[in-house]
Amino acid sequence: MRPKLPKEIEPLRLAQNGLKLSGELFVKDMPRLCESLTDNEGQIRVDLAFDMDEIGTPYMAGRLTADVSMMCERCLSPMTVNLSVDCLLAMVISERKVAALAEQYDPWLLESNASVPLNAVIEDELMLALPLVPRHREACLPSDAWFSGDERDVDEEEPQKVSPFAILSQLKDK
Ligand SMILES: [Zn+2]
Repeated sequence: MRPKLPKEIEPLRLAQNGLKLSGELFVKDMPRLCESLTDNEGQIRVDLAFDMDEIGTPYMAGRLTADVSMMCERCLSPMTVNLSVDCLLAMVISERKVAALAEQYDPWLLESNASVPLNAVIEDELMLALPLVPRHREACLPSDAWFSGDERDVDEEEPQKVSPFAILSQLKDK
């Protein structure tokens, strides 16, 4: 059985209790994400670890993986994009605190005791990770005349950062 993820989470409470969540969400339940895709099939593997760091900042470290289908902008046919997202969000309840965050964090503004829809949080992170100009990595033929002849594939270089989060490799081994 696959573990079920809650629809709503209380991020601060999860962090205070050092809890982990793992499971799967459906691509079709993320309408904003689906607008960029050629179909709504598939699932997203979600591994999240909530905790407080050594100076008491509550955070969520997450790894999201999904295969989604996007239109190749060169040949205009669907292609599979392997998304693998590592995120590290620090929960802040005052915008003034954002500037003081350690730089490895992205700020996550919350109301204290806020309960937030998990889907929307995951959807935001996935949308940030979508390639701006999806293109097949291997050669594919330009579909028509707007092919510019400029073949430098600067846009498809996905920065593959090495994850610094030991906690995520623990999750992965489960
Ligand atoms: Zn293509």
